[in-house]
Amino acid sequence: MIRNPHVALVTGATSGIGLAIAQRLAQAGYWVALHSRASSAAGLQAAATLVGAHYFQADLLDEDARRDLINQVYTHYGQLDVLVNNAGEASVIPHDDLLAATPDIWHRLYELHVVAPWHLIALSETYLRAASTAEHPASVLNISSHAGVRPKGTSIPYAASKAALIHVTRLLAKTLGPDIRVNAIAPGLVDTPLTEDWATIREQWIRDAPMRRSARPDDVADVAMMLTESTYLTGEVIVVDGGMNLL
Ligand code: NAD
Repeated sequence: MIRNPHVALVTGATSGIGLAIAQRLAQAGYWVALHSRASSAAGLQAAATLVGAHYFQADLLDEDARRDLINQVYTHYGQLDVLVNNAGEASVIPHDDLLAATPDIWHRLYELHVVAPWHLIALSETYLRAASTAEHPASVLNISSHAGVRPKGTSIPYAASKAALIHVTRLLAKTLGPDIRVNAIAPGLVDTPLTEDWATIREQWIRDAPMRRSARPDDVADVAMMLTESTYLTGEVIVVDGGMNLL
């Protein structure tokens, strides 16, 4: 039987890490559903350059939009093999300024980094199971952060939400195997639009990290491909930070 190419949905795929992962998946022959919150021009442009790609827009803070996104992707492709939960945001809040980390910020980051990935996985579960085979089990990849592994990061609500995403990753790996593998990547500083203005943090990486530089989006995409193409790894969290977590 001739099978369609595998289909991957990458959230937050119009720039930075998500775009690099989407491009790498497309190079490997996947049909990629590119998603972002607002940058539809960039999404349409990226989709036009990748065979089998299509762009979908959705604000993942909106529960109905999450439902529509999964429905639209499935209606378009009739299949879903891989879900990459990459969309995220961060703002810099000094850890000792407790009042600046308002309840609104806590709710927003927890919704975006924990509830939305969870909900997208739940909405996709039936499709992922249907696509899964022993030779190519379905895959969920959550993009967490080195701030979710070490007591660091741009803000405490950000770090705590990314730590929660790691715990969800491990819990779901136990729950969804063997049909669906669930893994996470915890990047350190990556050069993307999100971190453009973070000169001081970049200097720290160049000075202190064993690899003496911040990551390029492709460094993360390399690991994303390894986790996606594996037929056995599940519940793993790979820290991609040039060794900064050792300090
Ligand atoms: P980026 O700003 O280039 O991309 C972020 C993407 O997330 C965009 O496509 C945006 O549309 C999407 N997004 C944000 N809020 C959204 C919402 N409400 N609904 C839908 N989509 C939304 O950033 P990036 O650096 O490539 O970050 C990608 C992921 O990697 C994020 O989860 C981020 O927390 C994580 N991360 C980044 C770094 C880094 O140093 N850049 C380090 C660790 C983890």
